[in-house]
Amino acid sequence: MGKYDAVVVGAGPNGLSAAIELARSGLSVKLVEASHKVGGGATSEALTHPGFVHDVCSAIHPLAAASPFFKSPPLMDHGLRWGYPETALAHPFDDGTAALIQRSTSATAATIPPDGPAYMQLMDPLVDACDAILEDILKPLRIPGNVATLRFGAWAIRSAKGLIQKVFDGERARALFAGTAAHGMLSLERHPTAAFGLVLMMLGHRTGWPIPVGGAQAISDALASHFVALGGTIETDARIDNLSQLPRAEAILFDVTPRQLVRIAGPNLTKHYRKRLERYRYGPGVFKLDWALAEPIPWKAKACRKAGTLHLGGGWEEIARAEQEVGRGRIPEKPFVLVAQQSVFDRSRAPEGKHTGWAYCHVPNGSETDMTEAVETQIERFAPGFRDIIVGRSARNSRALERHNPNYVGGDINGGMQDLGQILFRPFASFDPYRTAIPNLYLCSSSTPPGGGVHGMCGYNAARSVLRSMGR
Ligand SMILES: Cc1cc2nc3c(=O)[nH]c(=O)nc-3n(C[C@H](O)[C@H](O)[C@H](O)COP(=O)(O)OP(=O)(O)OC[C@H]3O[C@@H](n4cnc5c(N)ncnc54)[C@H](O)[C@@H]3O)c2cc1C
Repeated sequence: MGKYDAVVVGAGPNGLSAAIELARSGLSVKLVEASHKVGGGATSEALTHPGFVHDVCSAIHPLAAASPFFKSPPLMDHGLRWGYPETALAHPFDDGTAALIQRSTSATAATIPPDGPAYMQLMDPLVDACDAILEDILKPLRIPGNVATLRFGAWAIRSAKGLIQKVFDGERARALFAGTAAHGMLSLERHPTAAFGLVLMMLGHRTGWPIPVGGAQAISDALASHFVALGGTIETDARIDNLSQLPRAEAILFDVTPRQLVRIAGPNLTKHYRKRLERYRYGPGVFKLDWALAEPIPWKAKACRKAGTLHLGGGWEEIARAEQEVGRGRIPEKPFVLVAQQSVFDRSRAPEGKHTGWAYCHVPNGSETDMTEAVETQIERFAPGFRDIIVGRSARNSRALERHNPNYVGGDINGGMQDLGQILFRPFASFDPYRTAIPNLYLCSSSTPPGGGVHGMCGYNAARSVLRSMGR
């Protein structure tokens, strides 16, 4: 089996990032992955027909493009290229128009009358201080040193509903904000749903919402290739069910969620620590759809055709109702739908003249309800004729997503609920959330700060914790 300085279990974006940070600090590192390939939540496959490249999980990557950690490894040298849709996000309305997030705040402001000036007043200072704010919020909670983060925090801690009612008067800005805040997968009346909206909008203006050319797999392949170039070893098709399967190592890092860690390391954990992990809460699940399409999606609002991502749910009250229903454990009649149309900006995703579509909606954790009809009805509402261009379809409910990747417990794509308590303190309040009750065993997944998304910062922060404990 050999002996390593560190073994990382799970090759998702966080496992890969942890492995890179340890290897480039001079440690011998082995990465062990259950699946036949690396990537976890950042992979691509021909889910419908040969020649169509679909992102199995993540599709849109503002967090990856802005991640302080992803800026340091030479990922471009390992094949990663970003494609930037002209418009990051389009939010269509029933009247055939759309609110847009574009690079400049003034261009966005022009699409959300009468709230353009209020939008710029809110966003401009945040966009100007974006890098400093990210530096603070992508780490475990501490008292922020810079004023911009404190100002961000004062807005971010609110509910989306609270912010919307205080800042915006018109339906368009309210709807645009509600859609971005709904990425938090919480009822929009809950704190801190405003945070999700603010971060995604800020990134829309600072970095854009890019897509990796060739598919999300390109991010994972670039990370893995860099890790191997640093001397790291990767073993795939190797699912770890108990600690005895692992080679000897000074440190073992798990890119898994608390429920899995209890299953794998349970007998070795202290009773107190295990109990705290068992109290960890998971959020709603998602229902995921991918389509092979005969042509681009025929959006009624022409501006939508230039957007990488679309939020479908009309006005803010409809979106709020859908998220509230999911929060109460019920299937929404009109789900809030997130759509991506990668092939419009990356011709490698589909055969000549053909296209791909990617979408998901939120559902109660573990739901097996088939949401295909409800999701396609929402798309048809803003793009009449959509159903006629479908030439292939792949659908996965929450349970199927969990079978695909055990980290998606009940279909929760964020590695645990991101309500106020669990976004500030993951998996629970602790000075070093990456350390566990076993001295050489660490958690490095999105169940640790700063939470869900493809940014690698959980893995990087965990690796720094390991290096600190080794006196490096
Ligand atoms: C449908 C969907 C859409 C999404 N959209 C976006 C998006 O557009 N943008 C974005 O930034 N994020 C998105 N996400 C979220 C993102 O994919 C995750 O937050 C991210 O992948 C978490 O990274 P991670 O490394 O913590 O875990 P994961 O990516 O889940 O990786 C964990 C890895 O560990 C492996 N593993 C688990 N258990 C074991 C075991 N016992 N032994 C060995 N290996 C094991 C798994 O196979 C997996 O490869 C989406 C997720 C889904 C499902």
